Amino acid sequence: MRITYAQIFYDQGVALIPVKTQSKHILAGYGPHRRQVTQFPLFAEFLLNGGNYALCTGTGGKHQSGGLVVLDFDNPELFDAQAWNTFTVKTARGYHVYFWADDVRSFAFDGLDVLGAGKAVMGAYSIHPDGSIYEPQNQPKIRGIESVFDFPLLSKLEPPKLPEPPKGAPKRFYNRGNSNSRVAQIKAALPILEAVQLFQPEAAKTIQGAGRWRQYNCAFHDDNHRSGWLDTERNLFGCHACDKARGDVLNFVSLSRGITNLEAIKLLGGAL
Ligand SMILES: [Zn+2]
Repeated sequence: MRITYAQIFYDQGVALIPVKTQSKHILAGYGPHRRQVTQFPLFAEFLLNGGNYALCTGTGGKHQSGGLVVLDFDNPELFDAQAWNTFTVKTARGYHVYFWADDVRSFAFDGLDVLGAGKAVMGAYSIHPDGSIYEPQNQPKIRGIESVFDFPLLSKLEPPKLPEPPKGAPKRFYNRGNSNSRVAQIKAALPILEAVQLFQPEAAKTIQGAGRWRQYNCAFHDDNHRSGWLDTERNLFGCHACDKARGDVLNFVSLSRGITNLEAIKLLGGAL
């Protein structure tokens, strides 16, 4: 069955990558940004010998733009919130819900990951490290949509909380300040959207969305998929594709200018 399902996706142009037997470890040299399967017969042999496989999300489909986008529910309650009417696979902890979407942005919410460009998802009938099977719940008919971000459920979710800083970690990414401090005043005076416009005007042109959460082409890596997010309420920014781009408005300025936070404080303090 692994071969049958891998072939269904291969035939629809989805890039496949080999994964070690009963694990989530991609074979060396392969990955969404590296090498992918080019010869299916050889790959079928690998699967026959017990190998797992993954699908590169953001690829495949019949349209010029777009590709496979999978909602990866870690929280089954969120999954139950809607009849998804599309190919669904049960995972060890939740569900994978498949779409062909024009919008292939990836995003992480609390309890739900949107797997699009640059990501991969374990294929149906692969075997999880705990021995459970990624089991299809229905026929592999995939619904075509514009964007998973149009689902009302997703607009209600928030990105996961920033992790607490490990002991002894540099403070720069976790500097939330004290509301009475001069630093907090400087931060409060510069909304994150304005900071992007001032310090990353090219990236600012890509800002999309309304309300608290906005998406944009991350200013800190080569991004065409709006992997970057802006939290206009808490004045924070982040990126789902690169680790270094995350923090508050002050970090945004210091990263953009290649200066220290202290220098950024002076820069902004002087401009107020
Ligand atoms: Zn980035």
